Amino acid sequence: MVCLQLRGTALGDVDAVLFDKDGTLSISEPQLLTLAQARVFLCLEQAESALDAAARLELRPLLERAYGLRAEAICPAGITAVASRDHNLIATATALVQVGLGWPEALALSERVFAEADQADARRSADHTTRTSATTDGLLPWLEQLQAAGVACAVISNDDMAGIEHFLDSHGLASYFSALWSAEHRPRKPDPAAVHGLCAQLGVPAARCALIGDANSDLQMAVAAGIPHQRALGYTAAWSSPPPLAEPHPLIHSWSELSLSGP
Ligand SMILES: [Mg+2]
Repeated sequence: MVCLQLRGTALGDVDAVLFDKDGTLSISEPQLLTLAQARVFLCLEQAESALDAAARLELRPLLERAYGLRAEAICPAGITAVASRDHNLIATATALVQVGLGWPEALALSERVFAEADQADARRSADHTTRTSATTDGLLPWLEQLQAAGVACAVISNDDMAGIEHFLDSHGLASYFSALWSAEHRPRKPDPAAVHGLCAQLGVPAARCALIGDANSDLQMAVAAGIPHQRALGYTAAWSSPPPLAEPHPLIHSWSELSLSGP
């Protein structure tokens, strides 16, 4: 029996901890900022023949607000930060419809823009210096503690398997995680059944887990799946402006605030 503690307060016994990736295990804001800026730039470029100058002028702020793109930051609760690629694509097409494109044209243009932005992203990833997102501060000692205590760890993310594995491998973290649940799994998060699917892989009931994420959708999913409320934990330290997490959930501001105690 291993008891999870936050700043010295017992949160109950756990057999497994489920981690969100982006904004929890990884500091993804710099990459997301580059990606969102590239999508805006490419969208304006691609729309040049389809829209007049006034419509394109209108399009930029629509896209920026839809993406949660601020001067040099990404809104941690916005769609770039939280939603899957296809939801971002739909949001892009919706912005294009608002400035006058028909839906089929808007969807096709969005698909071209996203494909090009992905290619640019892949080229950047091939570059050594920007290979992958950094891990959040103090993560490794916390994973080592969990492993030493025999508590299983898993990733539940809306990134694809290749993205999750690339991140873990790049930081030598793969051996700390017993199971992964990606955007390719069904159902995807934030469906509570995603938690059940991952728990089945781990062989651990949801009631004996903790889940740590940086979005309210993560925390709501955890509770709906049967993880006790006090172990649906918000992680705030990965963003330049802290995510607006629902206050009744305990919040973690640094991995060093968590500890384990024996029976
Ligand atoms: Mg996240």
